Amino acid sequence: MLDFSRQYASIREEVLAAIEQVCDSQRFILGPAVESFEQAAALACNAPHAIGCASGTDALWLALAAAGIGPGHAVITTPFSFFASVSSILRTGAQPLLADIDPLTFNLSPQSVNEVILQHSGSALKAVLPVHLYGQCADWDAFQELKHRHGFLLVEDAAQAFGAAWRDTPAGSLGDLAAFSFYPTKNLSAFGDAGLLTASSPEFDEHARMLRAHGMRRRYFHDEIGWNSRLDSLQAAVLEVKLRHLPRWNQQRRELAHRYDQLLTEAGLAARNTAEGIVLPFTDPRATHVFHQYVIRAPRRDALRQYLADRQIGTEVYYPLPLHLQTSLASLGYRQGDFPVSEQAASEVLALPIYPELRDDEQQTVVDAILSFYK
Ligand SMILES: *Cc1c(COP(=O)(O)O)cnc(C)c1O
Repeated sequence: MLDFSRQYASIREEVLAAIEQVCDSQRFILGPAVESFEQAAALACNAPHAIGCASGTDALWLALAAAGIGPGHAVITTPFSFFASVSSILRTGAQPLLADIDPLTFNLSPQSVNEVILQHSGSALKAVLPVHLYGQCADWDAFQELKHRHGFLLVEDAAQAFGAAWRDTPAGSLGDLAAFSFYPTKNLSAFGDAGLLTASSPEFDEHARMLRAHGMRRRYFHDEIGWNSRLDSLQAAVLEVKLRHLPRWNQQRRELAHRYDQLLTEAGLAARNTAEGIVLPFTDPRATHVFHQYVIRAPRRDALRQYLADRQIGTEVYYPLPLHLQTSLASLGYRQGDFPVSEQAASEVLALPIYPELRDDEQQTVVDAILSFYK
């Protein structure tokens, strides 16, 4: 599914030199390495402010908390995402409201969001949190329009989308705030846990910086209950090296995705729905997709996955159980059937191996195995 050693081999000298520099400085928390990475990241996504933190989950919480979201407020997001999209809302004390996804892109559906807004007209809706799932930006034209009509904040969960864009505006500068994850499997990844948020205003920037360091403006004077979510200098140094290679890596991902499309189509496997075959990923013409994942809809998905696993081909299901059906989120009050598009996606999606160093012959092997399964 993913071989980290190939990428490491290609940047080993550069990364080790950056790590050595941090070791020589003996500055391990925040400091010049973090400031330097924050500037490079802000520049890369054309955002006025970027704040490094300990994880993508923390970046989501910091983004919401920096905007003053808390008890008594409501935030709308998608049930078809990683758990943190919802748990970060709960962590602020706000109420998560869920809306279904678009069946083509798997991203939060603006029409469903609009329906939820109308159903919950009494609640203090403060923000909508679309997730750029699999590396493709959510429909930002429509969310911008809803924002102008209803006056909420837009917060991007861009954990899977560093380098993605909507109408050439990079993820990280689309919303009022945005959260990124650098977990090792992400398309921009650290050597451990790390995250970053971007902010559109100096007020949000200042508030987030204060919250990531125990709510301190002055040392040992705590104006608010923050948290420890500082970014390690070593992670920042690694990330700054990798950020320089990211445009090329994202381009390689797009080329690999295009080649999967071709190979699966030539094999006669591609179809419009799962009754007829495999459904290929859909790219909105307004989106610059970075293919953090290449996700198909597959008939008899679980049997296919087992068949591939038996042939040493790794695949993954993102995500097998929508968030409204998670045991720990039962108190949100949703039931099976509430989000049918998400529920169907959860039973059909399969992520095939995709990373910049994946070889042509390996891609061919994956497609041959899929073909022999359906024969
Ligand atoms: C990975 C991920 C997160 C959480 O990031 P961590 O760095 O693992 O805390 C949040 N949202 C989405 C969509 C993710 O994929």
